[in-house]
Amino acid sequence: MKIETTKEDWKKTIIYLIIYLSSIVIAAILLLPIYWYIWVLIIVSGMIILAFWHAQKAHYHCTNCGNEFQVSILTDLISPQGLGRDNSGKTYGWKYVKCPSCGKRMKAPITQMK
Ligand SMILES: [Zn+2]
Repeated sequence: MKIETTKEDWKKTIIYLIIYLSSIVIAAILLLPIYWYIWVLIIVSGMIILAFWHAQKAHYHCTNCGNEFQVSILTDLISPQGLGRDNSGKTYGWKYVKCPSCGKRMKAPITQMK
């Protein structure tokens, strides 16, 4: 089992976020204040695309029963997430989700981001 979000994953996530944020800014300059609804549409669709991308790539590990699972896009969007540190001092990403196998809610570590 690999509970480790690699540097490459972070780089990719940050690059996607930068692209997203800069397109929001550029779109704001071009579209606001007349075409504000198009701007809102860009923000919303960007968020959905990012959530899609994340939900598709992230796998979670149940700390209770050991089950590996994925979450839906909606769960990915609304669930709290954060960074933790394991016993050896390595940082890992987690998300507060319910395991589909044993039904327990926990801060499940992200095991894979490919
Ligand atoms: Zn479980």
